[in-house]
Amino acid sequence: MDKKKTIAELECVTDVMNKFDIGSDPDWLAIILFVRNLLSHLSVYSDEKKLEIQQEVFNELSQKDFSEKRFEKVIAMLDMFIMQTIGAMELEEALAEEKRSAVQLLNEMNAVFASMQGNSERQGRRLDDFKTETVDVIESGKDRSVIVSRVRDLFQNLITEFREESRELHDRARVLEHTANFDPLLSTLHNRRSLDGYLKEVVAAQGEESLPLSLIMIDVDRFKRVNDTHGHQTGDDLLKVLARIVTSHAIQHQAFSARYGGEELLVVMNRVPRSIAGLCAEAIRADVEKYDFRARTEGKLSDEPIRFTISAGVAQWSPGWDVARLVDAADAALYAAKNTGRNKVVIHQPNHE
Ligand code: GH3
Ligand code: MG
Ligand code: MG
Repeated sequence: MDKKKTIAELECVTDVMNKFDIGSDPDWLAIILFVRNLLSHLSVYSDEKKLEIQQEVFNELSQKDFSEKRFEKVIAMLDMFIMQTIGAMELEEALAEEKRSAVQLLNEMNAVFASMQGNSERQGRRLDDFKTETVDVIESGKDRSVIVSRVRDLFQNLITEFREESRELHDRARVLEHTANFDPLLSTLHNRRSLDGYLKEVVAAQGEESLPLSLIMIDVDRFKRVNDTHGHQTGDDLLKVLARIVTSHAIQHQAFSARYGGEELLVVMNRVPRSIAGLCAEAIRADVEKYDFRARTEGKLSDEPIRFTISAGVAQWSPGWDVARLVDAADAALYAAKNTGRNKVVIHQPNHE
């Protein structure tokens, strides 16, 4: 028989039985069927590894010793492979899960993929060590119940290590996911990329259900002056305060808050009508107006507060609108707020265009 062929590829299981003079013994047939099924499910192993497992079984069969003792030894060996398979499958699932959650992060995830590679190599080596230790235990000739409990201990240790590694990977993936979706300066706000994805999703869903969808676009009034008078760092600190205020209001409405551009923020309020979004925008505006913001220089807060205000434009999705149209409507309302005195909220009225 061609040695490169695996059992899974054999046309007929009886070919193997004839080759090894097994006859029609159901116990040994079970072993051959088992090996065939085991191999076809072991996608985590390379073909070489599968061939190695098959070869070990063939070596046993070629002894043509079909005694009870030999049968027990082959079963114990396969028992070991079952456990290896369970471990391998858990590992495979854990890695598949990591990859699923990482798929949207392609660029940022290179580091994780590299370490996944490293992990699976390490885990492969551990599986090999496990196998060596297991064979030693089996060949020590101890009582079968002792062997099984000892092998299970080895297996448990192996799985514990796999789990720890996949948890670690999962935590790292979550950190990277946050980095990829949130703004680096205003960390409570989603970044533009994440915002674009979310807007696309909610606007696409509007076609099916006609529930309200509103936007609040916020822009700091005369922000250039803050930068010019107090410095860029103070400007950054002021934006952090604004991000916190906006996020705290957005959370109350289960809304999605994001940094749209430099000092422009956007709150997406799904299933919220413009009247409620307008009240939310007004509450944000009022909180900002009364906020006692102090510039921090060398760790010390300034004696005088820096008062600042925002303007906001609110718009609600109308049938047929795409994302750009909805954002434009909020932007137009914001523009109207700026042109009529600032520190105010304007609600876009689609029928008054
Ligand atoms: P207006 O009331 O018309 O909005 O006046 P404005 O001065 O705020 O004008 P505009 O919105 O056009 O200017 C935004 C300024 O915000 C320009 C830019 O230097 C500054 N800016 C944008 N992003 C940042 C940032 O991350 N940090 C700081 N400190 N400044 C920023
Ligand atoms: Mg602006
Ligand atoms: Mg501005």
